[in-house]
Amino acid sequence: MKLTVGHLYPEYLNIYADRGNIAVLRERARARGHEVEVTGIGVGHAVPEAIDLFYVGGGQDREQALVATDLERKGEALRVAVAGGAAMLAVCGGYQLIGRFYRDRAGAELPGIGLLPLHTIAGERRMIGDVLLDCEWVGKTLAGFENHAGRTYLEPGAEPLGRVLAGFGNDGKSGYEGCRDGRVYGTYLHGPLLPRNPWFADRVLADALAHRAGEEVELTPLPDELEAAAHEVSAARARSRGGRY
Ligand code: GLN
Repeated sequence: MKLTVGHLYPEYLNIYADRGNIAVLRERARARGHEVEVTGIGVGHAVPEAIDLFYVGGGQDREQALVATDLERKGEALRVAVAGGAAMLAVCGGYQLIGRFYRDRAGAELPGIGLLPLHTIAGERRMIGDVLLDCEWVGKTLAGFENHAGRTYLEPGAEPLGRVLAGFGNDGKSGYEGCRDGRVYGTYLHGPLLPRNPWFADRVLADALAHRAGEEVELTPLPDELEAAAHEVSAARARSRGGRY
C-alpha cells in the first residue's frame, strides 16, 4: 500500500529531532513492503484529502504562537479526517495544540483544535529529563525525553498514554503522561520517540494502514535488536535520573 502522511508545520514545530519519527515510520513501512508519501502542511496550506496519518512535532512558545491561529482554521478539516479514521501523532508543543488551549508563559491563550480532551497551562519551572512510562493498555513501556513548561490537565474519562514510572509527565503530579483517543496519540516524549519504542511506531503505523485499507492490518514482526537496546538505555537513564528538577 502507499500511505500518505501529513506533516503539520515541519518548518516551525520540529525540535529534538521530532522529524526522526517520520523517518522511522517510513523505514518500518518499507520493511513490510509499504511506501510512505509525506506531504508538508504549512501555514496557509489546505488540509489535503485522504491523509492516513497526521504528524505534528514540538516547538517553543514562539513557534506555537506562529501556527496556532492557522491550525485553528484547519481544525474542522482535521476533526473530520480523524472522525473518518485518520491517525494522528502529536508531540509536546503539537500535543498541547490538539487539546482545547495552551496558555503560554506570557499568559497568552493559544487556541487548540480539541481533538484530545485536555488543556495546558505553562508553569514557572520547565520539566526536563528522561521519562519512562508503563502503558498498561498494551503491557509495554515507553521511553523518551521531555522538556516542557506546560502542565497538561486531562478531562475526566480521558485515557492517558501511560503511567509515569520515572519523569514528570503531563503535569508532574497526576502520575500520568500523554493522552490517547482511538487513533489519536499525544505525548510529551521527544527523543525522537519512535526509534527507541518500536512497538509504538508499529501501533501508529498499523492505525494508518488500517485507514488506508479500510480494515485492521497485521504487521509482520521486525528483529528490532538495536531498537530494544536503545529502549533499555533510555529506560535506564530515566530510572536513574528522571523527574528531578
Ligand atoms: N512550548 C511548550 C512548553 O514549553 C512545548 C515545548 C516543546 O515542544 N518541547 O511546554
